[in-house]
This record gives sequence, C-alpha cells and structure tokens, in this order.
Amino acid sequence: MTIEDLINRLKKHCSYAVLAAKKFNAKRFYLQTNLCKKDILEFEDFENTPIERAVSLKNLINQKAIELIKKDSDLVLDQIDPEVLINIDLINDKVVVRHSNIYIYVRYLKKTREYAQHVWACPSCKGKGCKKCNYTKEKYPSIESAFKEIFVKEFGASDCILHASGREDVDVMTLGNGRPAVIEIVNPTKTTPDLELIAQKIKQNYPLEILQPKIVKKFWIEAICNSHFDKKYYAIVSSKTKELTKNDFELLKNSCPILLKQRTPLRVLKRRTDMIRERYILDLKLEKIEDKKLHLIIYAQAGTYIKEFISGDGGRTHPSVSSILKTECNCEELTLIDVNDFFVNTLKS
Ligand SMILES: [Zn+2]
Repeated sequence: MTIEDLINRLKKHCSYAVLAAKKFNAKRFYLQTNLCKKDILEFEDFENTPIERAVSLKNLINQKAIELIKKDSDLVLDQIDPEVLINIDLINDKVVVRHSNIYIYVRYLKKTREYAQHVWACPSCKGKGCKKCNYTKEKYPSIESAFKEIFVKEFGASDCILHASGREDVDVMTLGNGRPAVIEIVNPTKTTPDLELIAQKIKQNYPLEILQPKIVKKFWIEAICNSHFDKKYYAIVSSKTKELTKNDFELLKNSCPILLKQRTPLRVLKRRTDMIRERYILDLKLEKIEDKKLHLIIYAQAGTYIKEFISGDGGRTHPSVSSILKTECNCEELTLIDVNDFFVNTLKS
C-alpha cells in the first residue's frame, strides 16, 4: 500500500463523510481514523529515517482527512463538543458518520401510582418476557420505557436513557412543576423532531407528561442528577389507634424545623448502604382533616425519606410523626407537588 493509495481511499471516504454530516445539518465534527498496523510499520521507518524527517502515519492521515473535510464543507473540527462523529476505518475500508447523543432537559409529571421510574425487570422471567408480566418484561410499567417508546422512534435512535434528579416510589405521584430530568438520546438519526409534539404524544398515550422540553449540553446530566432540590409533598397521614386532630397538627407544626436522624429505611436496605442521614423537615402546613386523617403539606430537605418521617420505620427514623404524636402513624398517600429547582435557571443550555 503506497501513501498515494491511502490518500485516494481517504478522499473517497471524506466526501462521503461530508455528505452524511450535511444530512445532520451539523457544523462541528470529531474525527477518528483506524489504520492497518502493516501500513504503519511500512511507512514509519523510524530506524532508517533521521528523527527530524520521521512522520507518524496516523498524524499525516488525520491532518489530510481534516483538510479534505474542511475543503468540501463548512464543518469545523471540535474535539470537545462535536455534533457529528466521523470514523474513517482504513482497515475495513468503511466510514461511519453518526450524530452525537442528544440531551433533553424536561420536568416530568407522573400522574399514576403504578409506574416505576426506571425499567424494573419482571422477577419471574428476569426480563425475558413471560405470562406473569404479560410479556412486557417489566414488573411495573416504567417512565423510562414509556420515554424510550416515544423518543427512540421520533429520533430514529438506538436507545434512550433517563437521568433524573432523585426518584419516587411506584406509589408516589409527581405533580406540580414536575421532577427535573435529562433524557439522553443515543445514536439519533433524526435530529430535529418537534419536542412539543413529542410532549403531546407522551401526554396522550401515558399517565405522564414532560414540561418545557429543551435541548441542553451533556454536563446537565451531572448537574441535574447531583443536585439537591428541596421538595414539597402532599401526604395523607393516618393513625391506627386514634383520630388525628388539629391539636396533633399543632404539635407537629411547633416542632418545625425538625432535624431527623434517618437510618436507611428497611425497605431499601437491600440496595443502599446502611447509614444514618441527617435531614430537615423545614415546615408543615395543614391542608385539611378528613376521615380522621391529616392532609399535610410537607416542606423537606432534599433526600428525606418522607414515608419513614411519618411512620418512624420502627425507630430507624427519629423523631417522626409517630414519635411526636405518640401513636403509630402511616403515610396513606404521597404526592410530590413541587421541586425547588431555581438553580436550573442558572445553567447554560
Ligand atoms: Zn415476566
């Protein structure tokens, strides 16, 4: 293989790459090349070449490819934030041009107490599909699967991953301004679907909604997932042994802010480290009393286990509504109604 042969093949691949990148309407590209070891060894005869004249074949080919691509297009090289990834494989003589993953910031609503956040494989078939799960492969329907269904199709993508700020239990609804999340579209082949239309499709087909979807940079995943947003909940609290009254609420209210010591709840102990976390219940409001139950608005610090704040989890969370009211209490229904995510406004999209 002579260098001329290599360059000729490179020319063919580069003009294809330019055409493919144009289809994506892309401006910024990243380049990778694969070369045959034999060609490299033949070309890079370092032993018999004075060092100042020695050239790396890889560098030479990369420079030539970049030059060819730029000559035929408006594309600019961007190693950090490229829109298209061009791979020229001179070993197998092929070129692959793919769009970088796309990241969409949303705040989602979950208007059901029957959906899990992430795919939860059916325990009977371990996600292979069986009668028990009605061949859905999942123990519960999930937000992630629903998004996958819509986004993969609309973007002609190979996959879709949900990165959310915290999570809710299957039986907890998320309403209000929704939970912040980033949806990662893997290997999109269409890059300009109408996000509002996608939002409509989700609303029509699932007990879910996405609010104000917008395309953002990759770093948002970390910013959103590692953020600690304080939250506001609506909880229905009952006692097994007594009628709850306004006095009970006053007792709770007067204890605010309540510093909790929360040992990892029994129900999640299998998946999480057993440790004690300190969290604040910042404030409480009484919405109403109905059927001897308190309907509370709870303002809690990020990462508070609300059900356990109410029950006490057999003493693992202290103090708790149970310990303050000296009666065994239970959270009958929980809904996330507001996420304090003002910091999101400071992120650059
Ligand atoms: Zn199954």
